[in-house]
Amino acid sequence: MIADNLRGIINELPSDVKLAAVSKFHPVATLMEAYSAGQRVFAESRPQELAAKVPLMPPDTEWHFIGHLQTNKLKFVLPLVSLVQSVDSFHLLEAIDAWGIAHSKRCEVLLEQHIASEETKQGFHVDEICRIFDRRSGFAGLSVKGLMAMASNTGDTAVIRREFTAVRALFDSLHSKDASFEVLSIGMSSDWRVAVECGSTMIRVGTAIFGPREY
Ligand SMILES: *Cc1c(COP(=O)(O)O)cnc(C)c1O
Repeated sequence: MIADNLRGIINELPSDVKLAAVSKFHPVATLMEAYSAGQRVFAESRPQELAAKVPLMPPDTEWHFIGHLQTNKLKFVLPLVSLVQSVDSFHLLEAIDAWGIAHSKRCEVLLEQHIASEETKQGFHVDEICRIFDRRSGFAGLSVKGLMAMASNTGDTAVIRREFTAVRALFDSLHSKDASFEVLSIGMSSDWRVAVECGSTMIRVGTAIFGPREY
């Protein structure tokens, strides 16, 4: 079932678009079904859950962090992940940079752009992202690899398309100045096809692979 879900998505996904399997709230046995079907990139949103799962999965599993990250949890998360997709404040950015410098690492991060109409969603506005981009060479402990965004929670595809198109425009303008700014992480279970049409380079899909989460 999980293998079938994965295969269905991968068959439809252009080969240059990456898939992060969002495994939050699912047990390791469930993740292993996806691993056995060939999936290697998993994304988690809670530090404790991530730390509990990592030692139980094969060592070539790659982990991304996609949740709201508090700076006091950085030391648990950063050693375990290859990408923090959800950097949503200057404070967090500076704390990751400091950790990277202290550990002689360049942590790869995405800046979360606020595009949805819901005020509860996290993220930077366009001017803030441009300001960070212009300062990017000043961060010795991290590398800003691109943008992540979540569309409004709506069934209205036109709204989603408009929001994704806006992130894509910002992404294109920054990517044209720096080719290493190369990741555009948009698209979840309900809207990944729209995101791919709008130029996503990475989708983050949970429910459509693993089924509903039990909170
Ligand atoms: C949970 C989550 C997803 C996956 O959502 P699904 O609808 O289950 O595919 C993607 N991105 C972020 C940031 C999430 O928190």
